[in-house]
Order: sequence, then structure tokens, then C-alpha cells
Amino acid sequence: MSFAHLGLAEPLTRALTAKGYTEPTPIQRDAIPIVLEGRDLLGIAQTGTGKTAAFVLPSIQRLVASAKRVLPTHCRMLVLAPTRELASQIADSARGYGQFSRMTVATVFGGTSINKNRQDLSRGVDILVATPGRLIDLIEQGYCNLSTIEVLVLDEADQMLDLGFIHALKKIVRMVPRKRQTLFFSATMPTSIRELAGAYLTDPATVSIKPAATTAERVDQYVTFVNQAEKQALLTIVLRDEQIERALVFTRTKHGADRVVKLLAGNGIASNAIHGNKSQPQRERALAAFKSGETPVLVATDIAARGIDVSGVSHVINFELPNVPEQYVHRIGRTARAGASGIAIGFCADDEKPYLKDIEKLTRMKIEQRPLPADFLQQANAIKATRVQAIGADPAPREDRQRGPARPRASHVPQPTRGSGQTAHGTSPNGRTYANASRGGGQARSGGGRGRPGGGSGRSAGSSPR
Ligand code: AMP
Repeated sequence: MSFAHLGLAEPLTRALTAKGYTEPTPIQRDAIPIVLEGRDLLGIAQTGTGKTAAFVLPSIQRLVASAKRVLPTHCRMLVLAPTRELASQIADSARGYGQFSRMTVATVFGGTSINKNRQDLSRGVDILVATPGRLIDLIEQGYCNLSTIEVLVLDEADQMLDLGFIHALKKIVRMVPRKRQTLFFSATMPTSIRELAGAYLTDPATVSIKPAATTAERVDQYVTFVNQAEKQALLTIVLRDEQIERALVFTRTKHGADRVVKLLAGNGIASNAIHGNKSQPQRERALAAFKSGETPVLVATDIAARGIDVSGVSHVINFELPNVPEQYVHRIGRTARAGASGIAIGFCADDEKPYLKDIEKLTRMKIEQRPLPADFLQQANAIKATRVQAIGADPAPREDRQRGPARPRASHVPQPTRGSGQTAHGTSPNGRTYANASRGGGQARSGGGRGRPGGGSGRSAGSSPR
């Protein structure tokens, strides 16, 4: 089936040809005709399914057909997204899809110049892609008016709720005309989302591409049981010994992400972190380095990683398991994009076992256990010793120094838990045993002098939010 068969006009199909798309994805095939009819839509789909084109393409066609002039500070289509990354990605896609349809596109999100937003909006814009907070600021200052919106899109609605955007969202929707087309997308469909969709959609058609209960089939999923204090060593070993093209490492908190980056640097592994405390230029630089392969390890919090569309993510490593099981589905969806396969490895400490249980309940599958490497203890100690040496060059903060260098201690010995799989011999997903895979008798690469002792000291989660 071609895009023209779906009823899309020539300027749009030309843009798709220019992008090299030959066939619609399932969500595009199902959703485009519905949106072209002007119906409301409830789309249950993850990023990576092609959902952006599914709502942008038919909406552009309808905007062109209605041929209304946009007024200063007004917009005709509003796309609300939970994160800056997703918003900027949607806007880039919309510019590409609308390149022959004379659509103007602007983005509005925090971390960028509000003056630039005001300028962009001053003459009005056809398609506005925004995160809720900055949009409300601009509305309250009189620089943006939503009274002429024809199409409202709520993208990744579940994330917006998780991020606490519900009040902002309600406030924004109250300012949008009742007579409008609403397109509502969410990767998961808990009751709260269903209720929200019920409130905002009128007689919607539903298109479900990835039900909440199934995780990406092409992702090989594993869990390794490991003490919190040993996670850093395990991560170093995995990054060193696996065939990693690009690895996305998830932590629950910003503090945790920064800590992982520091400790990896101490082991000679370069990585970047993206999270809510990073400035927009910092995030963009980190993403660009990840996309280009210059820094193939990116450490991210759930929120920052949402909407990231990078092909070639070979591994998703859940350094900390998410405490919200839906996040697991989102996280592992970062790999195995565009038909590729991927590997997701979760590091599960004792206190995270309830999270694992929740994840397995949601995904309705038992995640395969992957044992620790046969010589994990030796390797871990070697890694820690390397880090300890590096400390001489750059003393660690007092609290960490007081904890002392990482010597083999009883508490550092991985404690086998019942059924934990911490057996002496392990096999990696690609059939290699870990023992064979380890290089140089467990010697870690030398650090760059920025390491700290007691890596992964068990405080990794920290208390700061995402
Ligand atoms: P999305 O789910 O909208 O974030 O899209 C995921 C990725 O798929 C993006 O890189 C799109 O550019 C790409 N994509 C979307 N539709 C198609 C298509 N029909 N053929 C090939 N690639 C596509």
C-alpha cells in the first residue's frame, strides 16, 4: 500500500519520497484515513512506530484544505509533548513532511530563549509544538493565543501525567475551542489515561499498535541480580565486553545519572548524561555525540530519554530498574528500532525485586536471568582498584573518602539470592560465556583520574527527582 492510496495529497507524498519512505507503517496505515476524515483518534503506540507522521501528515492536509489564515500570536494546530527532545523531534518531522505544503512550524519549550519564542509566535504559526510549562508562560504573558486551534494533539499522554503536567494540560485544553479535532497518543493505557482520553475525545476511533501489555518482541530481555554496590563494576564489564554499538543506560534520578557518568569516566569509559538539569545545548550536544557514535554510551533518566529517536541503539541497560513498570516498556523500546534487534539488560538489586515483579506482571512475561560473569568478583575488584588508584590524582569528596577505598569486603561479595542466578558460570545473550568474554584477566582500563572510591555505593538512586 502506498501513501497516495491512503488519500494523501501530492505535496505530502513528494515530501515522503524525499525522506525515502516507501510504505506506511501500521499506525500510519490505520490512522491516516481516520484523521483525514476529521475524526478524533485515540492512538495507543510507542515512539518509533511512525506515529508522528500518522498525525502530522493528515493534519497538514486538513489545514491546507481549510485554508484559514493564521492570526498574529495564534496557531492552527497545537501538539503538546512531555519533553523538549520529543517536541523538537516532532517539529523537525513536521517541517520535513510539510516542506511542500507551506506550513510554518514553531517549537516552544523550556531551556530556550523565551524572546525567540515570542518572535516565532508574533506573526502566528500553523503548527506549534510545545511542552506545557513554557506554553502556559507565553499564554499568560499574552504572546500566544489558542482560540483558533483546529487540531489538538496530545502526544505521549502517559508521560505528561507521570511528569505532573495534568493541571497544565487541563488549563491549556480549556483555552482550546471545543470544536476541534483531537488526536490523543499514549504508549500505555492505565485508567487515568483512559479517563483523560474520555474527557477530551469525542466519539474517537481507536488505533492500537502496541498494547501496553506487550514489550517489543524483537528485544532480547535479561535481568542480572547484583548487589547495588557492584552495579558499577558490572556495567563497566558489560560495556567493555559486549558488542555495543550504542548503549543507553537508564537511572531513576538525575543524581544517579551523573554518578554513573563519573564512575564510568573513572574506568576509562566516556559517556554523557542527559536529564532535566542539563541545559538544552548540553542535551543537544550529548545526543549528537550519541547519534554520531562519538560517545556511544548515553546515561539518561526516563524523562530525558522519552522520544529520543536514535537508530542503532544495540543495548538498553537498566542500571536501576524503573519503579513505574510502564517506564520499562518505554525504556526497552529505545532499542530494536526500525526492524533491528536489541538487547535489554536489567540490573536488579535486592530492594528492586518488587519492581521486577511489577514489570513481569505488566509485560506478562518472565524476564530471563543472566548470571554474573564467572570471575565477577575478581573483575569487580580489579575495576575498583583501578578507580582507587585514580583517586590520588583527584581526591573524592570527603563523604566518599571516609568510606575508604574499595577493598574486598564481605559486603562486596555478591550475595546469591534464592534463584538469583549468581552462579559461577554465565552465558551472555550471544552465547559467549562471560568468563571467556572478559579480557586481560579482569583488568579494567585505566581511569582518567576522575574516579571515586566505593563506586555504586548503594546510594545511587539519590533523592532528586528526574
Ligand atoms: P516516530 O514513531 O514518529 O518517532 O517515528 C520513528 C522513526 O521512523 C522516525 O525516524 C521516522 O522518521 C521514521 N519513519 C516514520 N514513518 C516511516 C515510514 N513510513 N517509512 C520509514 N521510516 C519512517
